[in-house]
Amino acid sequence: MRKRFDIAVFDGDGIGPEIMRPTISLLRQMALDGGYELTFHHLPAGAAHYAETGKSLPCASLDAARRADAILLSAMGLPSVRYPDGTEISPQIELRKALSLFAGVRPVRLVPGQRSPLALPADREVDFVLIRESTEGLFHSQGAGEVTETEARETLLITRETSEKLFRFAFGLAAERRLRGRGPGRVTCVDKANVFRAFAFFRAIFDAEARHHPDIVADHAYVDATALWFVLKPWDFDVLVTENMFGDILSDLGAGLMGGLGLAPSADIGTDHAVFQPCHGSAPDIAGRGVANPMAMLLSAAMMLDWLGLRHDAPTVVEDGRRLREAVEAVVAEGAVLTADLGGRATTEEAARAVMDRLAAA
Ligand code: NAD
Repeated sequence: MRKRFDIAVFDGDGIGPEIMRPTISLLRQMALDGGYELTFHHLPAGAAHYAETGKSLPCASLDAARRADAILLSAMGLPSVRYPDGTEISPQIELRKALSLFAGVRPVRLVPGQRSPLALPADREVDFVLIRESTEGLFHSQGAGEVTETEARETLLITRETSEKLFRFAFGLAAERRLRGRGPGRVTCVDKANVFRAFAFFRAIFDAEARHHPDIVADHAYVDATALWFVLKPWDFDVLVTENMFGDILSDLGAGLMGGLGLAPSADIGTDHAVFQPCHGSAPDIAGRGVANPMAMLLSAAMMLDWLGLRHDAPTVVEDGRRLREAVEAVVAEGAVLTADLGGRATTEEAARAVMDRLAAA
C-alpha cells in the first residue's frame, strides 16, 4: 500500500524559510519518484510570530505538530525579540518538553574530502552520534531560575524515568548502527560523576541499563576529557549519551569538527513524536541574502526519512534517507558547489540544486 505521511513544518525565523524552501522541493521530488506521499503543513511559530501576535508557539500549531507523523523545523529565535524577562523566544525547546522528545540525536560525520579544522590521518574516519538528553538536565529550570540582587540559581534535574528511556534509546541506536556496518556497538556515558551526585545517579542508571545489553560495549567519560578527545581522537567514538547542557555544548564542538554548523543535522526523538532540525540557529547576520548553507537542513530531512521509514516499515523511505545523506556528503566532499561558510560562493538554491542533481544522477 502507498505510504502517506503528514509533515508539520516550522519555517522559523531568519534563514529558516530560506533553507526550508529547497528542502521541501527536494523531498517532494523524492516522494514522487519513490512512490510515497508527503503532505506538508506549514505552522506559525517563532520570534517574528511572537513579535506580531504575542504568541511564540500557538496551541493550534502545537496540536497540529502533535497530530503529524513527523515535524520538520528550520531554526527559530531572533536576538532582538525577547520575553519581558530578557530570555529569547525558543519554541523548539518548548516542543521538546511538550512532546517529551528526550533524545537529541546529533550525528558527527566526516567523509573523505570534507574540509575540517582537524588534520585527520588518512586512515581515519569520523562517524559518531552524540545523544543529548533534551527535556531536563540544566534546561529543566529554563524560565524559572531564581535571580536576586546578589545571586542567581538554576536547578539541574535528572530523573530515573527519562534516563532509563534515554539509555535504552542509546543502546538501541548503537545496535542498529552496528547492523548497518557503522560503528562497533559501543555506548559512552558522558558525565561529571566525579564531582556531582546527580551525575553519579545518572551513571548508575546507565550501568543498570548496560547490563541488559551485554553485546554492546558500555563505558564512561568525563565531559571535560570528552571535549579534549573530540579534538584529539574523534574517530574513537561510536554512540555517546549525555545530559542536556553538556550535550548542547559538545554538539557545537561536533559541528566544528565537521567544518561548521551548516553541516550539522539533528533529531529530537521521543516515544511517539520526533522533530528534525539543523543544529544551527536562525543566523540573523546572513538572513535575507540567500547564502545560508542548506546542507544541515537537508541532512536533518534525511534523518526524518530514515526515522519515518523504520517506524512505518517503509524500506523505500529508509533508502531515500540514505540516498539523500550520501548525495549531500558527495557534494560537500567534491567541494565544487559550496556556500560561503564552507569557503565557496554558491547560493542556498545552487547548493541545494547540486544535491538534487547528484540524486538524479545516482
Ligand atoms: P546561529 O547558529 O544562528 O549562528 C552562528 C554563526 O553560524 C553565525 O555566524 C551564522 O551566520 C552561522 N551559521 C549558522 N547557520 C548557518 C548556515 N546554515 N549557513 C551558513 N552560516 C550559518 O547562532 P546564534 O547567532 O547564536 O543565534 C541566532 C539566533 O538563533 C538566536 O536568536 C538563537 O536563540 C537562535 N537559535 C536557534 C536554534 C534553533 O532553532 N534550534 C539554535 C541555536 C540558536
